[in-house]
Amino acid sequence: MASLWVVKDALIRQMVERIINENEAEFWHLKTAKIALVWVVPDMKKSGRIALATAQKTNPLLELFSQYDFVIKLSRDHWESNLSEAEQESVMVHELRHCGVKYNRGGCPIYADGAAVPCDEDGKYCPGEFKLAYCIVPHDCEIFLADFGTDLPGIERVQHRAQQVFEFAKG
Ligand SMILES: [Zn+2]
Repeated sequence: MASLWVVKDALIRQMVERIINENEAEFWHLKTAKIALVWVVPDMKKSGRIALATAQKTNPLLELFSQYDFVIKLSRDHWESNLSEAEQESVMVHELRHCGVKYNRGGCPIYADGAAVPCDEDGKYCPGEFKLAYCIVPHDCEIFLADFGTDLPGIERVQHRAQQVFEFAKG
């Protein structure tokens, strides 16, 4: 049974805040999201390989007790002993890209109650403090190809899937 505990490391928490603030166009919807960072020991595995990190949305019960919108789990031993700071950051960016917001048919992001998020005159979304309709963005999406410049576990598989999507899209 894995052990889990909340990451108290201020540097990691600051990394997340910095990524969100420096990439406002991409991560505007995460400025008010409550994201829990959690260490996992031993390292998580997926298909026999170490999974560096995973992102999940809290379910309604967990949200009720924790107030968190997302949980990002990090394989602590691998994270601390095998990743450079730059690699840690690219993993974190990748996980944050899984933390998405739902859009309506008109292509507008929505609140939890389904109402559309308003824009200012520059086209910037202004969600205010109301709760957004958060969701998990799956892997089979071309944006993730951009994350995979480094040799991280699970990447070949993801790249392969993304490539398939491209081939399919090209017809
Ligand atoms: Zn991923």
